[in-house]
Amino acid sequence: MERTNEMVLEFDSRSCNEGFARVAVAAFSTQLNPTLEEVADLKTAVSEAITNSIIHGYEQTVHKIRIECKIVCQDFYITVIDYGKGIEDVKKAMEPLFTTKPELERSGMGFAFMEAFMDEVVVVSKPGEGTQVHMKKTMGRSSHPFED
Ligand code: ATP
Ligand code: MG
Repeated sequence: MERTNEMVLEFDSRSCNEGFARVAVAAFSTQLNPTLEEVADLKTAVSEAITNSIIHGYEQTVHKIRIECKIVCQDFYITVIDYGKGIEDVKKAMEPLFTTKPELERSGMGFAFMEAFMDEVVVVSKPGEGTQVHMKKTMGRSSHPFED
């Protein structure tokens, strides 16, 4: 039996939805029996990606943000997608302390946090088309010890 489970969320890019989406993703992850620390790490990473879509991708205009989650055994895969302005130079954008919005008191640490708290972070982006942040984290331990 392959243990996979998928979930998709789509919501307006309003700041008030960030908390809801972060909690929904965390709730979906609980079936992996994660530690509190693992859930906290996941929430932080998701929150950073959503905030980036709202502030940078859509520059505070309201469009859709899509989140795709997939569980495969103990691996949690999540992709945060916007259809906004995209990123010119992904490698540079991911450098710690790099920000294009210093005037908004951004510290340029969002991607660094995602990389610190998740096992893998891959950003796919095209200027004018949008951004996808793919992340993976192995979490918890099997709730089916006799099947391993
Ligand atoms: P902080 O996250 O610390 O508040 P920040 O958002 O500027 O600051 P990062 O999250 O690391 O820092 O993002 C770095 C840069 O990458 C941003 O300043 C922005 O230029 C670009 N960026 C990130 N996400 C997106 C996105 N979804 N769409 C367009 N540009 C993005
Ligand atoms: Mg950010």
